[in-house]
Amino acid sequence: MREFGYQRVFDVPGAVTLGADPEARYLGGGTNLVDLMKSGVERPGLLIDVRELPLDRIVPTEGGGLRIGATATNSDLAAHPEVRRRYPALAQAVLAGASGQLRNMATVGGNLLQRTRCAYFTEPAQPCNKRTPGSGCAAVNGEHRNHAILGASEHCVAVHPSDMGVALTAFDAVVTYETADGPGELPLAEFYLPVGDTPHLETALPSGALITGITLPPAPVAANSRYRKVRERASYAFAIGSIAAALDTRDGVVREVRLAFGAVASRPWRARAAERALTGAPATAESFAAAADAELAAAKALPHNGYKVTLLRNLVVAVLTELTEEAAR
Ligand SMILES: Cc1cc2nc3c(=O)[nH]c(=O)nc-3n(C[C@H](O)[C@H](O)[C@H](O)COP(=O)(O)OP(=O)(O)OC[C@H]3O[C@@H](n4cnc5c(N)ncnc54)[C@H](O)[C@@H]3O)c2cc1C
Ligand code: SF4
Repeated sequence: MREFGYQRVFDVPGAVTLGADPEARYLGGGTNLVDLMKSGVERPGLLIDVRELPLDRIVPTEGGGLRIGATATNSDLAAHPEVRRRYPALAQAVLAGASGQLRNMATVGGNLLQRTRCAYFTEPAQPCNKRTPGSGCAAVNGEHRNHAILGASEHCVAVHPSDMGVALTAFDAVVTYETADGPGELPLAEFYLPVGDTPHLETALPSGALITGITLPPAPVAANSRYRKVRERASYAFAIGSIAAALDTRDGVVREVRLAFGAVASRPWRARAAERALTGAPATAESFAAAADAELAAAKALPHNGYKVTLLRNLVVAVLTELTEEAAR
């Protein structure tokens, strides 16, 4: 491992001044970054520990939204009463990730910026365009059972591993950040860049930007929401497919629906075609299946991950049916 410096910071201006150094990385819980440093994928010259910054609060906003500080731990986010009441799928998504110990360490900002779990990415001896641009993609003709079916390219078929990000995507979260030049914000829909031929460029964050928080706009529909994650063992495993869904129906008709998929693309995937197909449609299993088909028509499966298309279709039907039945009780 390369020798590195370590600096704890206590205020945002001090953090972003240090963060302007291209060799520096912000350190949240370290649960992803430190692993990548051990394997040699990340080689920072300086770690800027952000956990003492005054950015760990979760505050309800007027009208029913939430402001979530970037250094709030995943555990605190999942346990917060207003998260559980206003955005239950978000609390469920966070609790579906990692383990209790990891969630106690992991931060909200770090979770959004965690890197892919593609085994070729974390093994420096393998070709990987994301780690070493131009070296090739070992997964396309290799092990890709858990790789992307949506929005990928021949240059990279990796998926984003965050559960939290899927729920945040369904609820139109906005990421706020600070740089040495001032503050900025990015809707999560624009935060992750398309893969194209530059899979090493993952987000639209300016260089050296410190994520300061996430704003969730008010969304009454989110009170009737659910996160469902499918994985290869019952706990402590990344998703092979997941869904965050929220539904509002009246007289058997869909008034509003939110849908996002996880583990199918390089970013949490907002299922807008499915949402469009469902709005105003009868809240029935047939409509839910047709909406899933509308979204998944764009899927491009590799030889070993075609099962994800069926998996996601079944998730859409099952979770929306449950939400419909619960709302009717
Ligand atoms: C065994 C294991 C299982 C896991 N299972 C799951 C799972 O099922 N689902 C899931 O979603 N996650 C899972 N995780 C991932 C875990 O949730 C992430 O490692 C964690 O959320 C990252 O948070 P962190 O604060 O530790 O980030 P760090 O490791 O500290 O940082 C990650 C990245 O974010 C950057 N960063 C951190 N904070 C900021 C900031 N404020 N501004 C700008 N950049 C910042 C760092 O520089 C780094 O690039 C698992 C992890 C492990 C080790
Ligand atoms: S899928 Fe992406 S991360 Fe995995 S080997 Fe290919 S380029 Fe690298």
